[in-house]
Amino acid sequence: MKERVIFGFDPFVIPFTLGMVFIILYLFVGTVRIIASLDNKEKKRLLRHIFSFNIFNTLWNVIRDVLLHVKIFRKNFLLGYMHASIAFGWFMLILIGHIEVFLYTPQRNGVLYYPVFFRYFVLQTNETLRGAFFFFLMDFFLLMTLSGVALAIFKRFRSRRLGMKRTTRHSIGDRIALFSLWLIFPLRLMAESFTAGISGGSFLTKSLYNLLSVIPGYASMIDAVWWSYSLALSAFFFSLPFSRYMHIPTEILYIILKNAGIKSTVSRDGYAESEIYSCSSCGLCIDACPMCSASNKERFTSVYFVRALRNRSNFAEEYARECLMCGKCMEACPVGIDSIKLRELKKEESMSYGKYDNDYLSNAKYSNTPLDAPELIYYAGCMTHLTPGIYKSIINILEKASVNYTFLDKDGSICCGRPLIISGGREKAKKLIERNREIIEGTGAKVLLLSCPICYRIFKEEYALSGIKITHHSEYIAKLADENRIRLKKGDFSVTYHDPCDLGRGCKVYEEPRKLLAKSANLNFYKESGPMSHCCGGSLASDRFSFEERGKVAKNALLSIEAGKADVVATSCPLCLKTLSVWHDKRVADISQIVNEQMI
Ligand code: SF4
Ligand code: SF4
Repeated sequence: MKERVIFGFDPFVIPFTLGMVFIILYLFVGTVRIIASLDNKEKKRLLRHIFSFNIFNTLWNVIRDVLLHVKIFRKNFLLGYMHASIAFGWFMLILIGHIEVFLYTPQRNGVLYYPVFFRYFVLQTNETLRGAFFFFLMDFFLLMTLSGVALAIFKRFRSRRLGMKRTTRHSIGDRIALFSLWLIFPLRLMAESFTAGISGGSFLTKSLYNLLSVIPGYASMIDAVWWSYSLALSAFFFSLPFSRYMHIPTEILYIILKNAGIKSTVSRDGYAESEIYSCSSCGLCIDACPMCSASNKERFTSVYFVRALRNRSNFAEEYARECLMCGKCMEACPVGIDSIKLRELKKEESMSYGKYDNDYLSNAKYSNTPLDAPELIYYAGCMTHLTPGIYKSIINILEKASVNYTFLDKDGSICCGRPLIISGGREKAKKLIERNREIIEGTGAKVLLLSCPICYRIFKEEYALSGIKITHHSEYIAKLADENRIRLKKGDFSVTYHDPCDLGRGCKVYEEPRKLLAKSANLNFYKESGPMSHCCGGSLASDRFSFEERGKVAKNALLSIEAGKADVVATSCPLCLKTLSVWHDKRVADISQIVNEQMI
């Protein structure tokens, strides 16, 4: 091959080059700004991560999530293919372009536009096997990218055919970036096909050239298509920072920071900034949201909440409060955006908690005498105290299994701290948590048993108890049954199990409750179980929804677990028990109650 233009330059490269320089500078400044806003401990953690072997795992995560979009593939094959074919196909076109420059025109290494417009500048003078191989690869990846673009255009007008009930609204920046992205690859195909007679081509570009070359005056159009291609690329780069497509470069930084163990401490800036800009506005969180389908309101869903944070909108606080914090959207999110944490931080920053005086500490009645050093300490929490059938069953089971236990909050006055945290009062929660921690560690117990998944999650995530295993009653009772400390007889009734959000998605406990139920009754299976299970609608994280809207969420949850087909709906959360009981006309019971009844 030889170079076509002696200086390797043509004015049509200018729009592309300007756009490219702009976006490189923008990304450089943005990255420096985000890293600079980390505190010293986080910066050291980031450095340690970059220079450790874990960086290879991070690189794999980048390839898997940013280029191959494996998580979307798992949820929806066509959507996964659409994202992956554009991202991976484009990446390969860039990579192969650089390899061609390196091999054929090494004197142009480092010239920004050269790998992109290589076919314009470099002529094929002889057909070598290597040359044919590169032409084939380029056409192959161009075809892959074009198929992704075709699917994206189809999805824009027929999203339901790709399994999406709702899509997100586009801003002006989104539209400019989207239309230029749609144009880039067809224009590249046209440009490379127009010149395929001179520069060479493969099955795609050469075939199209054969068709185009018969058009009268086709040669006079060559420059126009290369200019158009360059302009489309330029428009994409200039609109990128003001569009949802900013997620493409930001997600790489987000994955690195996340894998380094850095966490959000404010709802904007630093790590949170990388998280917010990594949202692709794919809209998968909208379809996943149980309250969105029940209330027909979309505005509070993760995508719009994150967008409000990104735009520094005053609505962000309102949206933060309009959410059940069930976590289903996070499970659906292919980027893994922790919108619940961002909502908590936003609520804290708004400081509206200050108008409530309760610190939950002054009302707590702690024992004046040190508690015994039992085998186990049981903490019921407020919701279990409102459903006494649960704690009575648990105590009965503990006694039957001869467990040496102490009931820490027998009078129901000690709070775990969750109400303070979800309403934005983390500072007050810290004092309460510290006091509870001292009392619990002071007992010398080896196990802390919780019967409320909400408390369970808070104890696991916020308490850092030393030398004490934290366990939920479904796990602990399953262990007692495994060790034959209790014996169960299988009842002649069918049961379907509802996964509580904080126990399932929050703490990944899915197996033990089912194991226990299978020993106590005929357990029914249904499709939407596990991580994508429905919320019961009873969450106290928001006071912005009506009784009827919550009722619709509960009814949808009952439908999804096929409650009508079973004699009993089982759950392992006092709040789910209370909520589902209101909307179901058959029995709803906690797992502890079923086990208690089936003990021999
Ligand atoms: S929050 Fe996640 S699921 Fe929702 S639009 Fe953003 S990337 Fe998609
Ligand atoms: S946490 Fe639950 S209620 Fe809140 S936006 Fe996500 S799916 Fe909807």
